[in-house]
Amino acid sequence: MTDVLIIGGGPTGLLLAAELRLHGVDVVVLEKEAEPTPFVRSLGLHVRSIEILDQRGLLDRFLAHGTEYRGGGLFAGIPLRWPEAIDTEHGYVLGIPQTTTDRLLEEHAVEVGAVVRRGSAVVGVTQSDTEVVAELAGGTALRAQFLIGCDGGRSTVRKLLGIGFPGDPTTVETLTGEMEATDDPETIAAVVAEVRKTQRGFGVGPVGGGAFRVVVPSDEVRDAPPTIDDIRRRLRAVAGTDFGVHSPRWLSRFGNATRLADAYRAGRVFLAGDAAHVHPPVGGQGLNLGLQDAFNLGWKLAGAVAGWAPPGLLDTYEAERRPVAADVLDFTRAQSELLRTEPGPLALRSLIGDLMAFEDVNRYLIERLTAIGVRYPLGPGLGARLRDVALPQGRLYALMRSGRGMLLDAAGTLSVAGWADRVDYVAGGDRTVLLRPDGYVAWTGDSAEDLRDALARWFGTGR
Ligand SMILES: Cc1cc2nc3c(=O)[nH]c(=O)nc-3n(C[C@H](O)[C@H](O)[C@H](O)COP(=O)(O)OP(=O)(O)OC[C@H]3O[C@@H](n4cnc5c(N)ncnc54)[C@H](O)[C@@H]3O)c2cc1C
Repeated sequence: MTDVLIIGGGPTGLLLAAELRLHGVDVVVLEKEAEPTPFVRSLGLHVRSIEILDQRGLLDRFLAHGTEYRGGGLFAGIPLRWPEAIDTEHGYVLGIPQTTTDRLLEEHAVEVGAVVRRGSAVVGVTQSDTEVVAELAGGTALRAQFLIGCDGGRSTVRKLLGIGFPGDPTTVETLTGEMEATDDPETIAAVVAEVRKTQRGFGVGPVGGGAFRVVVPSDEVRDAPPTIDDIRRRLRAVAGTDFGVHSPRWLSRFGNATRLADAYRAGRVFLAGDAAHVHPPVGGQGLNLGLQDAFNLGWKLAGAVAGWAPPGLLDTYEAERRPVAADVLDFTRAQSELLRTEPGPLALRSLIGDLMAFEDVNRYLIERLTAIGVRYPLGPGLGARLRDVALPQGRLYALMRSGRGMLLDAAGTLSVAGWADRVDYVAGGDRTVLLRPDGYVAWTGDSAEDLRDALARWFGTGR
């Protein structure tokens, strides 16, 4: 029996697999597609995801394939500047196509010992008190202690468990793809600039190798990828020309559904990433949210497999992450309204644009967009992630690669004796805090007794 089966080899499933491997958990990722998709969805990573990569020693390989945009972020397509003193060492958006993100995460998961089985579609999930059984198309059955549905917005796992996915259905769809064009880039850029004055969900931009990424509103909702003729027809309707597009690399469509799973857990099965929440791509938060789900769940699940997880630890995953997703869904709904072109939304957009000049408004929006403003309800003064800081032993984030908890002890008078197999100890620095393996502050103070309570609450019984 495997410790954990992860269904879906997208970014959420792959980061979760790597997190579990840090703790020696046996992990098999079942991915239905035989080959990685060429469809580029996400184009970038926000601050908290960049920090996560840094905390696991992965950032350099992402930076090598990405572009750092230090101009700020985009809220409803309105440029945001970085606040004067943003609380991070990584004040930039990392532009990187999702195909590269997925590839780097898969390489890393395999390097650290996860098994990724492509061409393995899960069609059945059953569970008892002691195990979960996944049935593959073709009839093979695999058993595990836990199973995680990271299988995207149309999650088979979620449906098999009967977990509701209420919210707003798709009302408008957008066609997208990468393709070549016979018109020259300057002509295309001039037409696009004109059309975007009134059509915000439209774009045609170069992506290298003579190809362009096309994004154009559809005039129907249909459950099938578009053809190049569909793209041409919609380009002519929206831009007055089809730019002579031809030879697509890939074509796809996406909708504006906004939905949140009723529950993130059913017994030994959990949901993470798009399987638990979907929303339109405005603001570019979906993949980021999935990575942060994985980062929250990984160490807790590892504790359950190893047997040290205290009662209730696994349930903190839903308690912490579901409200964060609900918040992102609302943030996205607000942005979608601001993208409308009727006079009311246009007036509101102009007003919001003016308000963004205020430092506090700017900071508030950036902290929500980048997820560095996330606070888990762990008690007064607790629940925020700690930015990277310099410590006598080196950079905090560089010291967190083991995926264990960490006690930063400014005075050097405390101890993690009894928990040293789960929690690292670092004396010095200018603060005393207990960090969970995902970098969130679980305790602060100076009482050894309180510390022991906090260690037991998050890391189980001391040995
Ligand atoms: C046009 C577009 C632009 C976007 N831009 C951004 C952006 O800029 N920033 C951002 O953060 N997010 C963006 N997103 C959202 C982002 O793409 C998703 O949030 C992200 O891919 C979710 O990752 P995931 O691993 O949870 O799910 P997915 O990436 O959907 O992966 C799920 C995996 O599960 C597999 N699978 C499904 N069913 C089964 C089964 N039964 N058995 C086995 N395997 C299965 C699938 O093949 C897939 O590989 C965008 C989305 C779209 C559509």
